Amino acid sequence: MRAVVLEDFGRLVVRELEPPQEGEVLLQVAACGVCGSDLSVYKGTPAMRARWSPPLVLGHEIAGVVLEGPAEWQGRAVTVNPLLSCGQCEPCRRGLSNLCPQRTNVGFHYWGGFAQQIRLPLGQLHPLPEGLPLWKGALCEPLAVALRAVELAGGMLGRRVLVIGGGAIGTLAAWLAARAGAEVWVAERNPLRRAWLEGLGFLRGVLEAPSGSYELALDCVGAQATPGLAASHVQPGGQVVLVGLEAVEATLPLQRLVLQEIGLKGAYVFTHDDFSRATRLLAELPDELAVVRPFAQVQETFDLLLGGRLPQAKAVLIW
Ligand SMILES: [Zn+2]
Ligand SMILES: [Zn+2]
Repeated sequence: MRAVVLEDFGRLVVRELEPPQEGEVLLQVAACGVCGSDLSVYKGTPAMRARWSPPLVLGHEIAGVVLEGPAEWQGRAVTVNPLLSCGQCEPCRRGLSNLCPQRTNVGFHYWGGFAQQIRLPLGQLHPLPEGLPLWKGALCEPLAVALRAVELAGGMLGRRVLVIGGGAIGTLAAWLAARAGAEVWVAERNPLRRAWLEGLGFLRGVLEAPSGSYELALDCVGAQATPGLAASHVQPGGQVVLVGLEAVEATLPLQRLVLQEIGLKGAYVFTHDDFSRATRLLAELPDELAVVRPFAQVQETFDLLLGGRLPQAKAVLIW
């Protein structure tokens, strides 16, 4: 089988690999999305160099067809929950599989979906809705991340919402909030991305930088300054949900948080339940939220994304 191997930081190569031997179910990968965390590993940020070393097969936003496994699963189009949890610990028993201390990730701890075949435990598979284009199944994982963040913020109907960062999670969260009845503005620095966001049709506005006042702000960047920016742009009694995580620490306007009773909540990936609910929303997701490119262009796609030279927030690679 062919696979995209990160041979060194900054170098992705398509080459032949032995098909995987271990794992309950064999999947023929049709599509795999490129995540910001994949870009960070590729770039070799200090945090990523400390945790992972090449060679690696990345990819955790996977859609494909079951080749080998229980008879009733064979030939089914599926997406993959890439987060493996123990199922036994206290958070797992409370349904918070995203907080399992023993959680591991496909595409990091195990070789991922940037390959034509992958083996996985059956419990990680979710059938795709009937008739859904396979590439769209690759959007389930980021959609599940956005779904958790939006749901932790509570009801959306009639609320004014600011999303900081028009990347994949920001765009998907904006779509979910608008779908649930919120008026949504997105703040995004990249002019190319802003022009693309303007064309999406479900946003009330696209801003160069956060301005105005909102009931809820979602920080989908997580830089040192963005949680504070989010807190500065919510009304008294408003709420900030933090989902982006680029920096380790942030500066916060403490007076404002306390004196204006502003709520602050973190949102981390998704539970099993979030993931299966995200699969049911895929059919409604507009096609233009992602660009589909062949795996042969993987390195170029990574470089375009890192350089901010791709208008779309999400790239999905197909074999
Ligand atoms: Zn990811
Ligand atoms: Zn656990």
